[in-house]
Amino acid sequence: MSVLVVGSVALDSVETPFGKADEVIGGSATYFSASASHQTPVQLVGVVGNDYPVERLQALADRGVDLAGLEHMDGESFRWRGRYRHDLNSAETLETRLGVFSHFRPKIPVQFRNAEYVFLGNIDPRLQLEVLKQVEKPRLVACDTMNFWIESRRDDLLELLGHVDLITLNDGEARQLTERSNLVHAARWILERGPTTVVIKKGEHGAFMFTANSVFFAPAYPLESVFDPTGAGDSFAGGFIGYLARTGDLSEASMRRAVVHGSAMGSFVVEGFSITRLLEITRADIVRRVAEFHELVSFDKTIDA
Ligand code: AMP
Repeated sequence: MSVLVVGSVALDSVETPFGKADEVIGGSATYFSASASHQTPVQLVGVVGNDYPVERLQALADRGVDLAGLEHMDGESFRWRGRYRHDLNSAETLETRLGVFSHFRPKIPVQFRNAEYVFLGNIDPRLQLEVLKQVEKPRLVACDTMNFWIESRRDDLLELLGHVDLITLNDGEARQLTERSNLVHAARWILERGPTTVVIKKGEHGAFMFTANSVFFAPAYPLESVFDPTGAGDSFAGGFIGYLARTGDLSEASMRRAVVHGSAMGSFVVEGFSITRLLEITRADIVRRVAEFHELVSFDKTIDA
């Protein structure tokens, strides 16, 4: 089953301790699609300006990403400039230029409206809400957000929480949104406002999945070199939701496997700038890495004392 994603399609300029990339393709919808397309077909909704190098998105189309919902508007594309210092877990935003995103009203193509799996990538929560009004009866609606929107559109974000089944956010965002420093309390605060599942990502320290009566934790893959963390969160979401859409299984056991698929995709994308690594890897690489995760956390629980 395919996944519908709405989110930013960006030009990113990124500095890390290992190098610089200027105006490379990025954005929440772009990373999500590149990642999820390893599991299932993807339908993308977003907007670009007339300065966007759309030919660079052909690689996504070749991988089964339907770009019929990508609007082309007069004006500047969305641009994000960020920097990572030695703590690769948190990006410092140097500049956000919304460009055509400030006038964008998402229009979901008729053929996308019966989507069963919907991912509302990181964009203005008012746009995320507009998308929900246009889809018919999804089986699973998931969303993501970031500090920029928590600060500027808090009320809309709280309204959105009442309409989604699942939210992914990183630990800093969870603390900021809930004003709780303890992540278990933060997750509970969110669960009380709508979603039945909350995934809190902690960068190189793994990810927690909370429901009303369970907690699951998956580590991050212990990589020797992290080159550029940009897109790790969206690639996580792509692996996670893509896995659920491919299997159609929303049981707790499947959700746990989905978290590991998300972590695996996050671990690939950070090995290079932009979506480069996501375009290079194969299904076999993903299967191998998921098996390595299993090895990483398996232990004999026999009590010998
Ligand atoms: P992440 O997966 O969390 O590292 O997200 C990375 C992507 O988020 C980058 O490619 C940016 O283009 C995009 N991004 C940054 N700020 C915003 C924003 N305010 N709204 C939408 N997308 C953003």
